[in-house]
Amino acid sequence: MDQILVKNPTLVDPFGRMVDYLRVSVTDRCDLRCVYCMSENMTFLPRKDLLSLEELDRLCTIFVEKGVKRLRLTGGEPLVRRGIMGFIENFSRHLKSGALEELTLTTNGTQLAKYAEQLADCGIKRLNVSLDTLDADRFKSVTRWGDLSKVLNGIESSLTAGLEVKINMVAVKGFNDDEIVSMMKWCHDQDMDLTMIETMPLGEIEHDRNDQFISVSEISKMLQQDFTLTDIPYKTGGPARYVKVEETGGRLGFITPMSHNFCESCNRVRLTCTGVLYMCLGKDDAADLRAPLRQSESNDLVELSIDEAISRKPKGHDFIIDRDQKGPAVTRHMSTTGG
Ligand code: SAM
Ligand code: SF4
Repeated sequence: MDQILVKNPTLVDPFGRMVDYLRVSVTDRCDLRCVYCMSENMTFLPRKDLLSLEELDRLCTIFVEKGVKRLRLTGGEPLVRRGIMGFIENFSRHLKSGALEELTLTTNGTQLAKYAEQLADCGIKRLNVSLDTLDADRFKSVTRWGDLSKVLNGIESSLTAGLEVKINMVAVKGFNDDEIVSMMKWCHDQDMDLTMIETMPLGEIEHDRNDQFISVSEISKMLQQDFTLTDIPYKTGGPARYVKVEETGGRLGFITPMSHNFCESCNRVRLTCTGVLYMCLGKDDAADLRAPLRQSESNDLVELSIDEAISRKPKGHDFIIDRDQKGPAVTRHMSTTGG
């Protein structure tokens, strides 16, 4: 007898959290090799394992139909995937229809001079650009070969195109902790928010992460020697907690995956470029959506796999950077799940 399968129309997990935010890593490849993110000689996935852009569109559309309101494209570097602008143009139909409230990108900025205007034309309003330093030599060393001027031009083009830009800065001890104030002033002078991120123990890299870790509470304490930081209720739907810096009038965000738990309000899941759905950034449990997607032209099997995956979304994660446990808490790289 055929089994009767009941699909869940919305994405509510067992803890009552509504999953309305999807982060999609569209490629694991990148034109940079940030030292905390990738090793120099990364082995990238064979292209045949990637979801085609048509498959990505079909899968993301199912998520939108099931209630995802905000979708962020990330990677690897999303803007180096061939054909990505065509994908974005096409997918922006969900913005036009009102089904999707926001389509955003997290990018290293190297391609923005080329694409900013097109992105704005597609209805993209905000971008997160990752930038850890304003010093060209340091930029080259942290990214292993990047050219800072390309990113700065990209940011300028984005602002000119009317996009709201938020800068994400990963705090690395002994590398850029002396630039936090200058980065903050530079961002606030141009009406950009700055978010400080602690390094997270994801993926094997070549050095000991304990030596690099600075908590955002250390940063906040350091800043409070010269600045007045006022807590504000501002939220972008992500895990950042924001303060207003009274002296600059700008906003500063803190993302503290290590020192605090932001799991209670977690509204997101992550899709990799091979169609694997991770229900939590800090856990290895995942669901393969590529097989059910490819198995049939109907969406029923994928929808059921999504429902089943959401029913396994854990209550919280358990990241630790521990002196005794030198390895990463989770072995996949951030470029696989997209941060
Ligand atoms: N390539 C794009 C970029 O750099 O913005 C998108 C992908 S990148 C993996 C997304 C974010 O993850 C970036 O802000 C990056 O700095 C951050 N990231 C990568 N590895 C990290 C780690 N181990 N700990 C904390 N943040 C990390
Ligand atoms: Fe590439 Fe972004 Fe990772 Fe840097 S953080 S290597 S830019 S994916």
